[in-house]
Amino acid sequence: MTAPVGTPARSAQLLRKYGIAARKSLGQNFLIDGNILRIVADAAELGPEDGVLEIGPGLGALTERLAERAGRVVAVEIDRRLLPVLEEALAPYPNVEIVHGDVLKLDLRALIRERFAGARRVAVAANLPYYITTPILMKLLEERLPLSVIVVMVQREVADRLKAAPGGKDYGSLSVAAQYFTEPEWIAAVPRTVFLPPPNVESAVLRLRVRGRPAVETSDEPLFFEIVRAAFAQRRKTLLNNLQRLPAAQPLGKDGVRRWIEAAGVSPDRRGETLTLPEFAALADALAARRR
Ligand code: SAM
Repeated sequence: MTAPVGTPARSAQLLRKYGIAARKSLGQNFLIDGNILRIVADAAELGPEDGVLEIGPGLGALTERLAERAGRVVAVEIDRRLLPVLEEALAPYPNVEIVHGDVLKLDLRALIRERFAGARRVAVAANLPYYITTPILMKLLEERLPLSVIVVMVQREVADRLKAAPGGKDYGSLSVAAQYFTEPEWIAAVPRTVFLPPPNVESAVLRLRVRGRPAVETSDEPLFFEIVRAAFAQRRKTLLNNLQRLPAAQPLGKDGVRRWIEAAGVSPDRRGETLTLPEFAALADALAARRR
């Protein structure tokens, strides 16, 4: 008898039938809890006129929940061994297309334009492969894809970083990028036991609601992100020390860097991890003005 998709019995059945062992190197921890699958799919706020891009469909458990809700699902899977499994598991859903490829190498803007033409909104939903969580999130954010929400299962520690406020150890470049482009919302904490095999870390589901406009305005966005990266380069050092290494600030010399930081209304003795987004924007604008 065939067990329903996304149950422990069905996942085990599929892996056995196709002689597949989960590959740790590809971050393969399959979700086997119907309740969590429903929570992730519901968080994407999908309707029949919407499209959803899934990253890493695995055995198709989340894909099925998405297919029940959205007009169209496109799922990108890197592991060729899973393609026949997905074909079998998702045969009842004509609105699903599996794309074989590496999400980090695909032109996602073109994919969205071609596969979701006419969709009211396009969301991303994914139980991410943890070995490339940050590069995937940065790609989704920095490419400014036309997305409504990004719902992701991530390591608990990454979820804390995405939501972190200034002043703590979790606040860093990833927090600034996530909060600049989106509004991160906590959806659920997820224990290891709902995965097959269980990962080594606790997990959480977050929804990143993509902003129409970035959270702060800056006259030079690439410079804003260069400053953010430099400010967190050595966490225990002051802004004055870290920002002196910024290529764009080299011509200023140490005193010039101090004057630039002060002109932005920020104390050069502070550490990067205490700065708010408006303060980073003020630093970018003050440096851009000096370079003109
Ligand atoms: N969505 C399934 C679930 O929830 O059970 C599987 C999630 S599993 C944590 C991550 C999936 O991402 C695996 O199927 C893995 O093969 C796939 N994957 C890993 N690296 C990838 C990449 N670079 N591009 C696309 N998929 C990838």
